Amino acid sequence: MENLTNINVIKDIFERHGFSFSKALGQNFLINPSVCPRIAEMGNAAEGWGVLEIGTGVGVLTHELAKRADKVVAVEIDSRLIPILEETLAEHDNVTVINEDVMKADLNAIIKEHFSGLKVAVCANLPYYITSPIIMMLLESRLPIESVTVMVQKEAGKRLCAEMGTRDTGAVTAAVRYYAEPKLLFNVSRGSFMPAPNVDSCVIRLDVKKEPAVKTEDEQFYFRVVRGAFSQRRKNMCNSLSSAMGIPKSEVAEAIRAAGLPESVRPEQVQLEDFARVANELKKLSE
Ligand code: SAM
Repeated sequence: MENLTNINVIKDIFERHGFSFSKALGQNFLINPSVCPRIAEMGNAAEGWGVLEIGTGVGVLTHELAKRADKVVAVEIDSRLIPILEETLAEHDNVTVINEDVMKADLNAIIKEHFSGLKVAVCANLPYYITSPIIMMLLESRLPIESVTVMVQKEAGKRLCAEMGTRDTGAVTAAVRYYAEPKLLFNVSRGSFMPAPNVDSCVIRLDVKKEPAVKTEDEQFYFRVVRGAFSQRRKNMCNSLSSAMGIPKSEVAEAIRAAGLPESVRPEQVQLEDFARVANELKKLSE
């Protein structure tokens, strides 16, 4: 259905279906008509592609994805939206809606079943309460996907797309950059949504790497080190790692020096390769 960004059309649908917004599910629906076509186009919705959408709302982005991609599978947690989507997406025979929590869905099985022979992209206007867990789940599960194009809060986008070694870097930056190359695509003002949230948003795309950015001897241990390094923002890496991992400060300092870094280095100054070296040195010491 066209016009899904028209407030009167949305209100009419809601009235007929007795629907009201759920704040807890992060339901801020897009009403700016220029945004969804841009997400679809920049998010790889095209011939030869299958698109996995997370959180459909009334299907405003789903519609734009279905116009461009060979196949769309949309996972939506709110069962009240399913009859609405049957109406708003009726013209598309290439859309499957799955009423499930994306964090519990077997996305590998969904991709195998629906996207055989297609390249796969994820596109979504993510519910804000669960942005980072969804992004990390998508990357950590090593799904056969080429890109993740998502609307997130502006602050989250800044952190997710930060360069390593800058003030905006956080544990999530290092985690995302391990798996993908992030890019800030465009900003979206709060007035583009109904109801309007208190903050502005942005759309980012993560191009998934074929191989992780750095080689680590023990991936899980590497991520413990990254999280530990950023666990106490105002402390240097040595102190944070020591208290987060329960390793004596002298040993952490030795590992940091052996990795070629000054003992007083702060996590925001550290590159991915440095984290990998520190993790490998710490692992050696703990063996
Ligand atoms: N795509 C629509 C749009 O742009 O207007 C809706 C976006 S709204 C920000 C987020 C959507 O995600 C809502 O429809 C909400 O019900 C759904 N959602 C929230 N948590 C979810 C979860 N864990 N799994 C799947 N969908 C979820």
